[in-house]
Amino acid sequence: MARDVRALIVLKGSDHVVIVGAGFSGWRLVEALRRDGYDGAITLIGDETYAPYDRPPLSKHVLAGKWDVERATLATPERIKETNVTLRLGVRANALDIESNTVELDDGSHVEGTHVVIATGTRARRLPFSADAQILTLRNRDDELRMRLELERLAPGSVIVVIGGGFIGAEVATQLKSRGFVPIVLEVATRPLIGALGPDVSSWLERLASDAGIELRNDQRVSDVERDADEFVIRFEGGVELRGAAVVVGAGALPNFEWLEGSGLTLDNGVVVDENLLAREHIAAIGDVARFSWPNVMGEEQVRIEHWEVANVHANALAHYWMTGEGATALMVPYFWSDQYGKKIQMLGHARPDDDVLLVSGSPDEGKWLALYSRGGIVTGIVALSQPRALMLSKHLLESPSTLDAALDAASWSG
Ligand SMILES: Cc1cc2nc3c(=O)[nH]c(=O)nc-3n(C[C@H](O)[C@H](O)[C@H](O)COP(=O)(O)OP(=O)(O)OC[C@H]3O[C@@H](n4cnc5c(N)ncnc54)[C@H](O)[C@@H]3O)c2cc1C
Repeated sequence: MARDVRALIVLKGSDHVVIVGAGFSGWRLVEALRRDGYDGAITLIGDETYAPYDRPPLSKHVLAGKWDVERATLATPERIKETNVTLRLGVRANALDIESNTVELDDGSHVEGTHVVIATGTRARRLPFSADAQILTLRNRDDELRMRLELERLAPGSVIVVIGGGFIGAEVATQLKSRGFVPIVLEVATRPLIGALGPDVSSWLERLASDAGIELRNDQRVSDVERDADEFVIRFEGGVELRGAAVVVGAGALPNFEWLEGSGLTLDNGVVVDENLLAREHIAAIGDVARFSWPNVMGEEQVRIEHWEVANVHANALAHYWMTGEGATALMVPYFWSDQYGKKIQMLGHARPDDDVLLVSGSPDEGKWLALYSRGGIVTGIVALSQPRALMLSKHLLESPSTLDAALDAASWSG
């Protein structure tokens, strides 16, 4: 890149980076900017009252009762001091003026920066049930506190109905069972995760729930959830009902971008940004809310991916770009993990559910396996159950295009 163009991009000490969303990617960006040598002002704005924390433990160690929730805190008082970041917590951004890079907050104040980063993540999808206000979700620390208080008042052995058998629903059910409750997981599809991982992989995972002693019911069309004295009544299409002491909904997440409506940015199932995560020269979006241009082994596509590691890569990549003027040189390989029913599922790539699937190592009967996704003979993803090393040994298959035949010849997972 020509020197003068780079000079336009690279951050100077007199700049001011305003980050909206004090969650995982927002905090990671603060850390990355300081690590890469930026010594100008950073303001981190968040609508939650907690200092930035990590979300995955909420549905794992914290819900299992093994961690105090404070242990998930990322921005400790020492790190806040060391990074010299100005934290504005408990305030919501209402609007963004993209000409002046000014964020309007719900307390009536405005924060003007030279650069603005949108890191507002996603929120739990709620379902239109009569008892919605009393139904639990798990997306943030307020949800965790509510769930903790609710569980404390329930007797061991109480039935807790989990609506949604996806990643969060399965993790929640696992922890509830470990704490002596009786979770019943209701999945609307023919099998959990069929829409995300496809028919083959979802069929291999289906038995995990019963192996863990957790009741999973598929094809469940809940028409309403009502409160009846101390209980919840779950009503199904067709008139059947089920009763539970508590109800948790894990029905996916929605990107938080409504506050940007009318700003002039392109919004389409997320904030649309380019391969350097830019919506405009000085406005970027990262993490779960970003719908970014992703160069991958099959070409380039617009994606929005709700994975911890993708948010991490985004924060590092944006800091690098704004500190050097250089974009990423290697293809980004999305990574995801989920701890459910006593097993670890891990995935590399962003395969489609209708991609071809080939089991190349282990088997469902063994309780550990590794499979390749492919499209048109090119490897598009790798998914594994309890095979962490084999998975990572195969990552190179997604760093540049690999044919399925070449992958099978090399069998790097067995190395
Ligand atoms: C319970 C749980 C378990 C998970 N487990 C896994 C896992 O096992 N593996 C995995 O890969 N990923 C997991 N994830 C996903 C991972 O945590 C997310 O991908 C990651 O947190 C995304 O970071 P983010 O910064 O984009 O969003 P977030 O961390 O959600 O942060 C966004 C922040 O912006 C705030 N905000 C929103 N709107 C505004 C506004 N207008 N003004 C100010 N602030 C605003 C939000 O309140 C939030 O604090 C899990 C998520 C949850 C909730």
